[in-house]
Amino acid sequence: MASKIIYFTVNGRPEQAEFPIDCPAQDVKDLFRAAAEAGPHDILKLYNTKGNIINISPQLAPNSPHSCYKLKVVAADCNSAELVDDLGFDLSSLEKRLQSLEKRILTEAAETPVIVYEMKRQVESFREKLESVEHLSWLGLFKNMSEGTHKPSPFYHKRTLRKAREECVHVREQFIQMSSLEVSEEVRQYLKKPTFDNWQWEDAEIMVLLQVMYTDLDFISTFNIELDVLQQFLYEVYRRYNNIPFHNFKHCFCVTQMMYGLIWLTDLRNKIDSIDLLIMLTSAVCHDLDHTGYNNAYQINARTELALRYNDISPLENHHCAVAFEILEKTECNIFRNLSMEQFKRIREGIIKCILATDMTRHIEILTKFKTILPVFDFSNKDHRDVLMMIMIKVSDISNEARPMDVAEPWLDCLLQEFFNQSDMEKLEGLPVTPFMDRDKVTKPSSQTGFIRFVLLPLFIELANLFPSLEQHIIDPVRKALDYYTEMGKAVEREKQNRVQSEKMIKPSTSGQPEGHPEPSRATKPL
Ligand code: 5GP
Ligand code: MN
Repeated sequence: MASKIIYFTVNGRPEQAEFPIDCPAQDVKDLFRAAAEAGPHDILKLYNTKGNIINISPQLAPNSPHSCYKLKVVAADCNSAELVDDLGFDLSSLEKRLQSLEKRILTEAAETPVIVYEMKRQVESFREKLESVEHLSWLGLFKNMSEGTHKPSPFYHKRTLRKAREECVHVREQFIQMSSLEVSEEVRQYLKKPTFDNWQWEDAEIMVLLQVMYTDLDFISTFNIELDVLQQFLYEVYRRYNNIPFHNFKHCFCVTQMMYGLIWLTDLRNKIDSIDLLIMLTSAVCHDLDHTGYNNAYQINARTELALRYNDISPLENHHCAVAFEILEKTECNIFRNLSMEQFKRIREGIIKCILATDMTRHIEILTKFKTILPVFDFSNKDHRDVLMMIMIKVSDISNEARPMDVAEPWLDCLLQEFFNQSDMEKLEGLPVTPFMDRDKVTKPSSQTGFIRFVLLPLFIELANLFPSLEQHIIDPVRKALDYYTEMGKAVEREKQNRVQSEKMIKPSTSGQPEGHPEPSRATKPL
């Protein structure tokens, strides 16, 4: 029977494996597992000469000793019951013990000793090492992945692409260096406009721009915020946005920048007091902290830790907000530390209200409330202000289409990438597939035309009813985007019909592509 030989190295040691071409997939995996002397829960990663990960399967392309593959072994899921046994300890419980120890020390000594920080760092870095490979689970390297579709995958809640420590340290250094430089007046003015292009700026620069927002709204002086505390806060925020396609640090920036722009465009500084403005800006900064790229429907269906913890009630938004206050718990990050208890309580209540309002399942409820109070809107009425703040964070949150097309369109690509990741995972895990995320059903125009018509415009129009000057800044570009995607939708439709037509015209004996088939234009190019 035909067999193939695969040459590879494991820990620098040359090995070769031979197996029949019709060998069962599991046997091939076991063969490599044995060669690597890997444990049953370890993950094997095979790299080709280009450094790409390739699947360990009977279909592996044969190679030669000169084009050796590289086999690597990495530790597996850090919390599974079996692994707790194998490791000899439970990482989660270790973290919990460390947390409660830290709390006790903090209560008694008022300051966390360096040794506790060091221990936390070590535990965190260990967790990062263990988790950094989990996103590879779809490669089929985890043994249990394809088992029973009725129960959620054991990896659902940890398939988070956390930022690497080195990346954070580097960005932090750049940020601190840059923050001492003066930001030009031109940039400061540009930052107040919805036309601002986020794609031109690196993460460290974005942190400087966030600092500028706090400075130019006079928060530093009004609330006695120390610059190093603000910087530490912004760094922690940056660190706790994950590397995912859409809900990442750049999205945090865009939402905050739109909120900042709206505050200036509506002259809100002369209408409500600065504590409310501080609540609005900080809520925007924190509103998607530690988003994992899977929405509430997924959290609930997959019965994730978040859904369990928050009883299916806005699990993500509750989490974003909890992480925000977790960051603020650390004195060195607490930008509110010089405020009175009374002021802090008000800010906390406000931020919770704003972040929880970003759950889109509450969209109609919040918009209806706003419409009801609009005819009698009174800036001195706290209930009215609360609803306005919720509306403004909602507008900022979904405001990509209010930006210039070349800024907005890449954001749609990011959003759809995240949506498709989720629906792919839902299919893999046998969970209900969220229809607007299904790559087999959704296109850019189909995604945007409905969203703009039924969600964006009705919301934006109400805010512009209160602030008519906003019309040109946020409504006009959204209408343009609607036209653009409507045209794109028609082009897609035309192309589909052309294809059907050409297929009909091809005789059964004809081979190859029909002539005259239109080249995909910019408007019809596939995603
Ligand atoms: P989030 O708080 O998750 O950032 O924003 C709310 C949700 O609104 C997003 O998760 C997404 O479902 C939806 N959304 C925001 N912007 C767009 C957009 O431009 N198009 C579509 N189709 N949905 C959007
Ligand atoms: Mn958001």
